[in-house]
Amino acid sequence: MINLLEFPYNDLEAFVLEDLKESRFRAEQIWQWLWQKRVRSVEAMTNLSKPLRERLAAIAEVRWPSIVDAQTSKDGTVKLLLGLADNRLVETVLIPMQDRYSQCLSTQVGCAMACTFCNTGQLGFERNMTFGEMLGQVLVGRQYLEDHGLNPLKNLVFMGMGEPLLNLDNLLKVLHALPDTRGLNISWRRSMVSTVGFPDKLKILGDSELALPAISLHAPNQELRARIMPKAAKVHLDDLMAALRAYPMRPRERITFEYLLLKGVNDSLEHADQLARLVDRKRGKINLIAYNATEGMPYEAPDRAQVEAFEKRLWSHNLTAFIRRSMGSDIKAACGQLKAAAK
Ligand code: SAH
Repeated sequence: MINLLEFPYNDLEAFVLEDLKESRFRAEQIWQWLWQKRVRSVEAMTNLSKPLRERLAAIAEVRWPSIVDAQTSKDGTVKLLLGLADNRLVETVLIPMQDRYSQCLSTQVGCAMACTFCNTGQLGFERNMTFGEMLGQVLVGRQYLEDHGLNPLKNLVFMGMGEPLLNLDNLLKVLHALPDTRGLNISWRRSMVSTVGFPDKLKILGDSELALPAISLHAPNQELRARIMPKAAKVHLDDLMAALRAYPMRPRERITFEYLLLKGVNDSLEHADQLARLVDRKRGKINLIAYNATEGMPYEAPDRAQVEAFEKRLWSHNLTAFIRRSMGSDIKAACGQLKAAAK
């Protein structure tokens, strides 16, 4: 059975023209039902004739990821464990902001990067998520917020499970589909894609003008980065920084550098000084993340005072730096805690 959610707009149009032998504007109607009105069956597409709906339903369906488990943190963060068609599991997180929610999306089942501090990394890589699965997370997220009378979904970040740039073809299709006003209409100008960074793929993402990267840097020099992120650091830090210097940006835009503070590993003031030498303050800003401790990992969370001292030191170099609020850690929904184990 075809899942209609798996068609990017152009493919849906081709399907309508060639397989259904219907006119082009049926594609627009179907797309609207899927992504704007969020119907979950062909039968519900009531502006299609009954015979067309019957023909369509014989070969195609609308299959959302299923909610296997939902947990709400005391800070309002919601973590959804989603089941995919092959019963594999991923997690997505709804994060409350002032008057809206931001959703953190997964891009792969598991992750191949095996960063030494990350829970998802311990799972290993299972497979890429499809176009429909990635965007399906947004359907599920929006519906969940609506059903629970919560604020609307406005922002997306690709910071969940997986390495988005290793699923680049599908990611680009997703980024392209998001602002479609006949569909999800998630219309802030560019969304944020968190990645360990691959120069060739950053070039493609940059040229697409569909997103800004957040770079999981976590170390201010090659040697230390290789120690804590051995696979990611196969791309030499010099090559990564060169690729970022070439990243096309509009005025006032900045690349975010994520820096995870691990007690006694990368959190000294000398590390802050090195970091300040690495990042161009006109093109980059630094997002400090205190390590979310998890059992079985060889790291400890830094002291709050050290995190603040690190931030101040960056400020003293005139860098923009801020500490990321950690949300949902009581339900293991915070950065690096996504593991998609059924409870
Ligand atoms: N693979 C992508 C996106 C997923 S991770 C990437 O690496 O950017 C999202 C962010 O959480 C990354 O910056 C990641 O390094 C960070 N992270 C991983 N483990 C963490 C932990 N235990 N505590 C806090 N942040 C963590």
